[in-house]
Amino acid sequence: MTVLYERRGPVALVTMNRPEYRNAQNSAMTYALDDAFSRAVDDVQVKVIVLAGAGQHFSAGHDIGTPDRDVDKSFDRRAVVWWDHTDKEGGNQRFARESEVYLGMCRRWREIPKPMIASVQGACIAGGLMLAWMCDLIVASDDAFFADPVVRMGIPGVEYFAHPWVLGPRAAREILFTGDRFTAAQAKEWGMVNRIVPREDLEDETFELAGRIAEMPPFGLSLAKKAVNQAEDLMGMRSGMDSVFGLHHFAHAHNAETSKDSLAGESARSMRDAGAR
Ligand code: ZN
Repeated sequence: MTVLYERRGPVALVTMNRPEYRNAQNSAMTYALDDAFSRAVDDVQVKVIVLAGAGQHFSAGHDIGTPDRDVDKSFDRRAVVWWDHTDKEGGNQRFARESEVYLGMCRRWREIPKPMIASVQGACIAGGLMLAWMCDLIVASDDAFFADPVVRMGIPGVEYFAHPWVLGPRAAREILFTGDRFTAAQAKEWGMVNRIVPREDLEDETFELAGRIAEMPPFGLSLAKKAVNQAEDLMGMRSGMDSVFGLHHFAHAHNAETSKDSLAGESARSMRDAGAR
């Protein structure tokens, strides 16, 4: 199972389960996550949703190199009404696919009307940040580390461009310009993370917080969540992301024109090696 689902009292625990690949996100995982979140939304017993990653790491990002990489596969599209990407070429293919499985899905999940908590340990890199960011709260273990190194590919950040809103513009520039890893403590100082807990306490502390939230009235929580989302969008998040998605795709296209592929010839291994400082 690519994604595990479990209900513990009022909390649904959704766990990415590809620990052998540091929970790299392929489309199969994306749709399995969507199934799990939909199940949690429809279950009246569930008041809070926790997103976690099995193993040592939360998520190494989008799958750009495992044997189960599935960019050429087609799934039942749910996030946006756009045509299937698999029989298209070039920018048409990339725009269709990324509108659905990356930007579209993260936006869809951000609108889930129940509070969501990301429970993050180890690596939370690039596409992994998107998954943590679309959650309402982030509880990180003290060994968690974060990075968006895609400027190394000539791309101005991952598809769900929340950076300036979740980090502030100054920190957003720093993490993009350097591509460096930053710690849970740094992330908390910038306001991106709610709590840092010892690694061995991560699950308990996440569930403790989830349990307290679960005592509040569900409809009040939904409206409070929507209120903060609306405020973020009034601060330009939604329209900002749309405009940056254009730059993101311009970068993919530039790479495809001038280098080996739309990722500028970078692989999961080369990105990891470059970031292993
Ligand atoms: Zn992309």
